[in-house]
Amino acid sequence: MKQLITLLSFGFLLISSKNENRETSGEITSAEVEEVSEDLKTGKDLSLISIDPVSHATAIITWGNEVFYIDPTGGAEAFKGKVKPGFILISDIHGDHTDPETLKALNLGDTKIIVPQAVKELLPKEMHAQLIVLNNGETTDLMGFKIEAIPMYNLPEAPDAFHPKGRGNGYLLEKDGKRLYLAGDTEDIPEMRNLKNIDIALIPMNLPYTMTVDQAAEAVLTFKPKLVYPYHYRGKDGFADVEKFKELVNKGNKDIEVKLLDWYPKKK
Ligand code: ZN
Repeated sequence: MKQLITLLSFGFLLISSKNENRETSGEITSAEVEEVSEDLKTGKDLSLISIDPVSHATAIITWGNEVFYIDPTGGAEAFKGKVKPGFILISDIHGDHTDPETLKALNLGDTKIIVPQAVKELLPKEMHAQLIVLNNGETTDLMGFKIEAIPMYNLPEAPDAFHPKGRGNGYLLEKDGKRLYLAGDTEDIPEMRNLKNIDIALIPMNLPYTMTVDQAAEAVLTFKPKLVYPYHYRGKDGFADVEKFKELVNKGNKDIEVKLLDWYPKKK
């Protein structure tokens, strides 16, 4: 409610300043005001959720007053000077997602870590008390978020796939009417294509581990999130062409915004 009031007052300020400015600078056009008002009406303003990429699949997400980490890797160094997380989400067992050393180095105290069962088995016993195990399809409520574990897997399904169905989790987080989807290491599975009302999606694209740029674009055009961030796009033979992904999505639906962030900063 507080956020709504803030948003509404922001809209009011813009409208008032537009009126004041009409005969003077004319800095704010009525088209811009209408655009802002439209965003307020549809809840399209997503600026309260920001993604701070650390590397590959690792990020710090700020959502209003809450901060959480996804798949923390890279040691304490990678999070130096950053706000401590309210909780952590881990998607799968591989080293680019589960890194016990980083978890230890972060000195998390009893901060909750949401994991699938297979990740719990990799983490030291001392950490078990702070784990919340969620398997595919299960949900939990934590710090005002509703969190659901979404399947993530390779197609066709096979027990020896990089990511067999049932082991790892994508996550769907919901708070204050906004929905964020973290796909995890997955192809364009039906569970992704059937998602509804997604505001922000983080989508992987790297071969041979997840999917092609074309598959990723096609999936996004099917479930139509408002805003998409490609992540996890370094493959066996270099980087996936995220510019092409953006182009394909924009060509298919200009209402879907694709934001490219630097997920692979050069090491100093
Ligand atoms: Zn991965």
